Amino acid sequence: MVPFTVKKNGNKVWIGDSGKMYEREEILIHYLNMDMSTLDGLNRLLAEYKRKCRYVIQYAANYNENVHRAQGLLLTLVSFFRLQPPYSCLDIPPRICDEGELIALLNQHKFLFGYGRTNEYVDPRNEEERFLADEFGFEDVVTGEAYLHAFYVDELILEDDEYESDVIDLNRKIEQLFDRYITLVDDAVRVKNVYAPFLDKYNSEDKKKAVYDLFHLPTQPDQGKQLNASSAVKLIYGVDEKGELCRVAEYTSLGDFLYMELMEGLEENSVPRKCANCGRYFLQPGGYDTEYCDNIAPGEDRKTCKEVGAKNTFDQKVKTNPIWQLHQRAYKTHYARMKKKNMTQQEFLNWSEKAAKLRDQCLAGKVTVEALEAFLTEDLRYKKK
Ligand SMILES: [Zn+2]
Repeated sequence: MVPFTVKKNGNKVWIGDSGKMYEREEILIHYLNMDMSTLDGLNRLLAEYKRKCRYVIQYAANYNENVHRAQGLLLTLVSFFRLQPPYSCLDIPPRICDEGELIALLNQHKFLFGYGRTNEYVDPRNEEERFLADEFGFEDVVTGEAYLHAFYVDELILEDDEYESDVIDLNRKIEQLFDRYITLVDDAVRVKNVYAPFLDKYNSEDKKKAVYDLFHLPTQPDQGKQLNASSAVKLIYGVDEKGELCRVAEYTSLGDFLYMELMEGLEENSVPRKCANCGRYFLQPGGYDTEYCDNIAPGEDRKTCKEVGAKNTFDQKVKTNPIWQLHQRAYKTHYARMKKKNMTQQEFLNWSEKAAKLRDQCLAGKVTVEALEAFLTEDLRYKKK
């Protein structure tokens, strides 16, 4: 959408001049957890408008209508991405977010449109402008303030050799404009189509193979399904917000930035992982394997996914393992006995310590199930009298 600079010092990331700080990979995680359904299929539509908004006779019939529909779509995209980092930290020029980039571009070439027509926008309070509007099409008499809201491909201009290079220039700019938006959408959906499946594989299977496969993705016709649409990233050094030495990278696309986030995370062996409870991605502290995030679990008031997950894992273990079942049954009986004061707290602690030890030995195959059962039931019988 617009180029931006990123300063990095260790795990700290600053976007543009906003001074807003992120953790490394925090923005990548934002896109991993984003609902991409609104962006799906949008590029097919953008590619269609890219064709139809060229200044050619083939699309002259509905040109103005197509231009305005396309501009509406682009503005929707702009207002969506303006709310997402890194763009939420940047000042987006009014040409892009208010007046609309396509309309602004066509107005830079207004001498090609509506030759001699009067349906362009003029300020009705301005006498001079109203007069000039009648003469529209003669660029030298337009003060530069008049602004077109309606665009018509002019057959006479297309037939005139003098305008040929202007038309070629405009069409090239129109295509580049649409390509920038198509790349933006690709860059976002790539996170869902390529990065997320890669991370799932990386976190659950052979890491080395997952990385190898990532760099050897089959070439697919669908955009956004390749590793990256990267152009070179300009990297220099500067000072961060605290005056400390930092790396400063200049990005022209969201995709390049997210690509670098992922690669740097891989270098540090610290990449996002999907929470086994809530399904959202979170950052794993380096080298430490954890399946659950620290966020409040869905449907819970205070319990985190980690707490819910630990209990689920435990319940699962007890449900499926006869050794655990044996132990848990005896544990509950003894616990109840202590609560009824048929057993002192110290007696209970001594017993549970022994029981846990024996259970672990039994799980490790060092003690037979019969021996464990004998201990647990013998003790129960003893305590009953
Ligand atoms: Zn979670």
